[in-house]
Amino acid sequence: MHLTPDTGTLTDPFGRTIDTLRVSVTDRCNLRCTYCMSEEMKFLPKADLLSLEEIERLCTVFVRRGIRHLRLTGGEPLMRRGILDLVNRLSRHLKSGDLEELTLTTNGVRLRDFAKGLADAGVRRVNVSLDSLERETFARVARSDCLYQVLDGISAAQDAGLKIKINTVALKRDNAAELPRLVQWAHDGGMDITLIETMPLGAVDEDRTDQFLSLADVRREMESYWTLTELPDRTGGPARYVRVAETGGRLGFITPLTNNFCESCRRMRVTCTGTLYMCLGQEGAVDLRGPLRESRDDRSLNAAIDKAVAAKPKAHDFLLPVRGAAPALARHMSMTGG
Ligand code: SAM
Repeated sequence: MHLTPDTGTLTDPFGRTIDTLRVSVTDRCNLRCTYCMSEEMKFLPKADLLSLEEIERLCTVFVRRGIRHLRLTGGEPLMRRGILDLVNRLSRHLKSGDLEELTLTTNGVRLRDFAKGLADAGVRRVNVSLDSLERETFARVARSDCLYQVLDGISAAQDAGLKIKINTVALKRDNAAELPRLVQWAHDGGMDITLIETMPLGAVDEDRTDQFLSLADVRREMESYWTLTELPDRTGGPARYVRVAETGGRLGFITPLTNNFCESCRRMRVTCTGTLYMCLGQEGAVDLRGPLRESRDDRSLNAAIDKAVAAKPKAHDFLLPVRGAAPALARHMSMTGG
């Protein structure tokens, strides 16, 4: 057993110390990106969701156990009523220095309304998912015509002093040709950008095989016109970063299919119903909602967290997509928030 019961830091059987937690605050989203959700999604009844108080308590227990980077995600986190109250309450851990970073991953549609509040609460950085700068492409992929709202949200966030990182899912049919422009645009605007391979999570209305684009190939092509220099930067997750000499910006690659980097994974994920997943690409999970609701003291919650950490798998086992195959995992990314 690698943990001191109740209060030890979170070290898994492979010696990785978990210091990064993503918490999904809702499974609902105001977009229906084709690779993420089907058009007609069934969302959870509200009663199944953790309350904001429960999320705060859970996060606080994790911070006591050594989580230094906390990211709120979804679904779309800015769709959760009271999200700013939650961020404000969690920001006390930033003020105390127990938490190094409190961030949010959003599609940006509602970012203008929240940018200042987030910055005032101590959030320094927000990740915005954006797959195209072309209105029609954006609308087709997101099944919603709101590119300009997202761009406006990004401007508002920058005006409020938030640093922005763009996340772009690489899609063979929809944005392959646009990726260099997206990188140039992000870097011109002083933003990092990370490209992500589509992962086989949850049933969607299309076959993801048609959209899968190997980032190894994208990177090779970029190297034919840009100078990419490896950076040592690590964020506790699967991204690997390079500096693009010609744009001066930082570019990340998340390649769970062509190249996994599980050996350095320091992350765990909690869904909006309080299920703790030890790995984005595996089914193994531990329920935290039961222990949270069972007792006001945190002993059984800590015991459940210990159990999860002891069972964190060494690596995920996504395989390259096979046409017509069922997704590797039944749950959608909107459960675990990416
Ligand atoms: N709504 C927020 C957003 O758009 O960032 C947070 C949740 S969203 C599920 C988190 C990230 O996961 C987004 O960047 C989205 O593009 C990405 N994503 C969703 N499904 C994916 C999949 N099957 N493969 C790869 N990335 C996916």
